[in-house]
Amino acid sequence: MFSVLKRDPVERLKKAVGKDKVDTSLIQRKLYSYDATPIPVERKVPRAVLFPESGEDVVKIVEVCYEENIPVFPRGAGSGLTGGAVPTEESGVVVSFERMTRFEVNPDNATAVVEPGVITSEFQSYVEKMGLFYPPDPSSFKYSTIGGNIAENAGGPRCLKYGVTREYVLGITAVIKEGKVIKTGNPVLKDVAGYDITKFFVGSEGTLGLITEAVLKLIPKPPARMTALAVFDDLETVGRAVTRIMTSGIFPSALEFVDREAIRAVEEFKPVGLPKDAEALLLIEVDGTETSVREQIDQVGSILEGMGVKVRVAEDEREAERLWTARKNLGPALGNLRSGKINEDIVFPRIYLAEALPKLREIARKYDLLMVVFGHIGDGNLHVNLLYDKKNREEEERAERAVDEVFELALSYHGSITGEHGVGLTKRKFLKWQFGETGYEILKGIKLLFDPKNLFNPGKVVEV
Ligand SMILES: Cc1cc2nc3c(=O)[nH]c(=O)nc-3n(C[C@H](O)[C@H](O)[C@H](O)COP(=O)(O)OP(=O)(O)OC[C@H]3O[C@@H](n4cnc5c(N)ncnc54)[C@H](O)[C@@H]3O)c2cc1C
Repeated sequence: MFSVLKRDPVERLKKAVGKDKVDTSLIQRKLYSYDATPIPVERKVPRAVLFPESGEDVVKIVEVCYEENIPVFPRGAGSGLTGGAVPTEESGVVVSFERMTRFEVNPDNATAVVEPGVITSEFQSYVEKMGLFYPPDPSSFKYSTIGGNIAENAGGPRCLKYGVTREYVLGITAVIKEGKVIKTGNPVLKDVAGYDITKFFVGSEGTLGLITEAVLKLIPKPPARMTALAVFDDLETVGRAVTRIMTSGIFPSALEFVDREAIRAVEEFKPVGLPKDAEALLLIEVDGTETSVREQIDQVGSILEGMGVKVRVAEDEREAERLWTARKNLGPALGNLRSGKINEDIVFPRIYLAEALPKLREIARKYDLLMVVFGHIGDGNLHVNLLYDKKNREEEERAERAVDEVFELALSYHGSITGEHGVGLTKRKFLKWQFGETGYEILKGIKLLFDPKNLFNPGKVVEV
């Protein structure tokens, strides 16, 4: 009689990719069980953390995991805000892409081939030295990765004019079921052959497969930019001003909203001299040639002044940088207001903003909560923050109920439950509201086509 000795799957993984790429120490396993999600999520300590160094390593990892039924949790920098990189099963492994950081730029074709672990800001600085531009600018750009940005379809202020990550991904190489490799797209601007599988991967949040390489589109870097600050006494005028600017023929490179509570929070955190008595601010950036930026900012100024709004144009790059730093400090500044924060990133069609903004305030009043709203108002994408005391369970519950109404409001205006942060673990319930029964069935079908065993980031986005 034979006795069949079953080999430990982690030993198989070590043999497949090398011991130095598999970490089973408790401290690492614990560290890699977190991401930046500010609210508690179901979270398990994985059995190992893997550090592939090439696409071939990833193939070997997925081959073993698919055979052994091991859940795989892909991870970039762990800066996600909806639990996307958090392992939810103890039997699973985290696959961290931090060692896959190579990229190659082809300046003549204005494209680049990039591994997923490349830090977004490092890639941007590199191409900018060549006169090229990779616009997607999540506020986390200094530490988040290209792979994480693609998997979340990340965006930021500049995406108003230039579009989100999706617009810059021409092709993907990914490892899917059983360790098979799929290569989609080409380094070309036009390609309508078959279904657009590249775009399935953009925003897939690690649920379809592991992205090992991407072909990115680059554009010429605009030579100049100018920033202005507009100060508002009421919210309705903000909504109307946004519509007037966006229909004036000017396309700002960024149009950001900061509400009263956000102004106060950032002034208490790191003061830059924002007017604390204002009801709201708009931060407007235009880019282009030296002459055109001056013309555009003057035109924006006349539109706003014609509506009775005070406008200040930043005198130099230093003043502009100061204003943008204040905007980027908003997230951390809120941490000083209350111990708990639910941070949502809903989207409204721009035309409904004037109506929707005061309604958000009504929700805060109804639930007696501190709500701070800021964000990319030019594309209707608002960061709605509900703040509460973590020790006060009753207040936390009120915040959770208020969030439901915030999502209902966005959907009632034909908006979206998320413009940037994705669905992950925290917004699964609301995805069903947005897609309806038929749409949700199709999402599940797509997921299972790439991952029939439901091993890639199980429990995230769609429940199968
Ligand atoms: C202070 C702060 C500010 C932020 N500002 C913004 C903002 O302005 N705009 C915005 O869009 N987001 C923002 N975010 C959220 C977050 O930074 C983005 O979602 C970012 O894209 C995540 O990148 P990451 O490398 O940290 O990925 P992670 O958080 O590690 O992972 C994110 C998702 O991608 C998956 N994933 C990662 N790599 C791969 C891969 N190679 N293959 C398959 N799946 C993969 C993970 O499984 C997970 O589902 C912010 C976060 C913080 C903390």
